[in-house]
Amino acid sequence: PTGVIEADAVIIGAGPVGLFQVFELGLLEIKAHVIDSLGAVGGQCVELYPDKPIYDIPAVPSCTGQELTDNLLKQIEPFEPTFHLGQEVTKVERRDDGRFDVETTAGTQFIAKTIFIAAGVGSFQARTLKVDGIDVFEGSQLHYKVKDPAQFEGKNLVICGGGDSALDWALNFVGKAESVVLLHRRDDFRAAPASVAKMKALCDDYEMQLLIGTATGFETSADGKLEHLKVTAADGVTRRVPLDMLLVFYGLSPKLGPIAEWGLDIERRQLKVQNTEKFETNVPGIFAVGDINTYPGKKKLILSGFHEAALAAFGAAPYIFPDKKIHMQYTTTSPKLHKVLGVE
Ligand code: FAD
Repeated sequence: PTGVIEADAVIIGAGPVGLFQVFELGLLEIKAHVIDSLGAVGGQCVELYPDKPIYDIPAVPSCTGQELTDNLLKQIEPFEPTFHLGQEVTKVERRDDGRFDVETTAGTQFIAKTIFIAAGVGSFQARTLKVDGIDVFEGSQLHYKVKDPAQFEGKNLVICGGGDSALDWALNFVGKAESVVLLHRRDDFRAAPASVAKMKALCDDYEMQLLIGTATGFETSADGKLEHLKVTAADGVTRRVPLDMLLVFYGLSPKLGPIAEWGLDIERRQLKVQNTEKFETNVPGIFAVGDINTYPGKKKLILSGFHEAALAAFGAAPYIFPDKKIHMQYTTTSPKLHKVLGVE
């Protein structure tokens, strides 16, 4: 079929380990496609702690999650990886010719010789609002992310959550939306203290409203629109809050998801690798690196993932170059590596 991408290597996950996998494959002259369900690269480092310093990357005394990611991107630039972001890999199926059919939620299709699963703790998905039946409004009046802020201007908004996303968007929409109600289950916020102070000041000025309570139900209008959210407060009283749009920021939770259905050996939500020589799974040609894998002595550290990526690349090379003898070379001194790195 047309549009199918034939690839030597497909990397599932653009966290630090998936990114470094590009580098290690690149040194062996293997080009990679990288897929991530998130819209940005960096995995946990960017999603969970972009501004926090990491102190245990060898020879880097301190760098933030975002800086580590930016440096990895710079390091892999010579290898020109192709990124496919904002799409989850749903299908991995072995073909009769030993290669794999790979497919994403965006409909991107690959035929891959080798696969590197660097999926960390699984693909991050928004934690949903647990109110029976309210999911039918997802995408119309119930949103877990803001794609187009203009959509919410002039509307009566209820924003749920107590973290940075909830507070940032609430503050952003004050003055642009018709009304902004922030709903959080308790008067204690994970968000930056400065944002919390700003929010409370706006509430004192009647520019927005803070409700402490839990969403427990909803009411619809005659034409089936979401009209009221029922909010139960700590005193047990349930109030009806009118709204046009409901924004929920309960954070992201990782899901192993489709990976569980690809016929791979799984032990406590991790992929078992055959050995620590190649980090290959029970399916020949599929390797698992970084937080997603498990083996005796496994430590979920970035530096362990980097090492695994190097050995997995050597382990995979025979699938791509069956007749080539692969030697390890030093980047300092090898003219061949200088050539692939573009530093001749
Ligand atoms: P991840 O970073 O989890 O990235 C995996 C990526 O795969 C994600 O972006 C995900 O969306 C994607 N993905 C998963 N499934 C799919 C799918 N089916 N389709 C498409 N994409 C998919 N480690 C250290 O070494 N030092 C530290 O100081 C340190 N501090 C930390 C602090 C915090 C708060 C946390 C939470 C972790 C810390 N870690 C630290 C751990 C470190 O972040 C992880 O070891 C590292 O991120 C693992 O990298 P990874 O590439 O294996 O996976």
